[in-house]
Amino acid sequence: MPQPRRSQQSATLERHWHRFQQLKRELERLEYFCKGTVLKRLMKCGKAQCACRRDPAKRHGPYFEWTYKEKGKTVNVKLTPETAPLYRVASQQYRKLKALLHRLERLSLTGLRAQAKRAQSKRTA
Ligand SMILES: [Zn+2]
Repeated sequence: MPQPRRSQQSATLERHWHRFQQLKRELERLEYFCKGTVLKRLMKCGKAQCACRRDPAKRHGPYFEWTYKEKGKTVNVKLTPETAPLYRVASQQYRKLKALLHRLERLSLTGLRAQAKRAQSKRTA
């Protein structure tokens, strides 16, 4: 009865491989990416007479900042309202990349296990 089992194994291998190829195509559609996040900040200036002191709606800004970690240190990069959206989109692309890589890795392990099982059963058949 090894025949039906073997074809089922092949179908499983093929399915994993097909899904793997699909995910790789998603990688190709990735745009420029950057790690970290883009923050939008409203600031108090510290002047005693300024309205920003009491009214949160009168705070200054918005100011945009791109922050990320480099060798354990947080790096802050000032952005303008014009450039902030670029970095925001890029940071979303980075999260997409990480998610894709995670899925590719899991799929690789599943595929590898299936291949290993088949290689083993070939030997003992
Ligand atoms: Zn102020």
